[in-house]
Amino acid sequence: MSKEGEWQEGMPTHETILFSCFGGLSNTGITSALACLETVKELGLAKVAIGCLPSVPLGVKPVIGKAKAAKKIITVDGCPFECARKTIEAAGFKIDKSIVLVRDIGMKKVALHTDIGKGLGVEKYISQEDINKAKELITKSILEK
Ligand code: SF4
Repeated sequence: MSKEGEWQEGMPTHETILFSCFGGLSNTGITSALACLETVKELGLAKVAIGCLPSVPLGVKPVIGKAKAAKKIITVDGCPFECARKTIEAAGFKIDKSIVLVRDIGMKKVALHTDIGKGLGVEKYISQEDINKAKELITKSILEK
């Protein structure tokens, strides 16, 4: 039995679901997540939302249902480990587009442990230019037929 307020088949849902990696140990993982959020802000929730990546292998029903109901599934990964794409494919979903920031926008991965002892802080590793480039690519993938 579903809980009150829980999404069920037939209810309104998002046209595209993004599954983003969000590794907070590197600039790439953080940029993936921020670019996805910026995309959702720009295009609106009817068009796109971010799926809960760890819930998929756990079989969380509303998330699985929304992913099944979506017209498009796009994974956004920071680096070639492709945690999002592999997680979603391992759960049996077909992905319409896989974006990998180091491959597709030429981003250079920097692990944040390199900051220890320097004290620059996480924000010094995040570039608005990278976020914008990633957002543009994600947006194009959502809007293309
Ligand atoms: S794909 Fe790379 S950046 Fe993203 S969570 Fe996995 S290891 Fe981290």
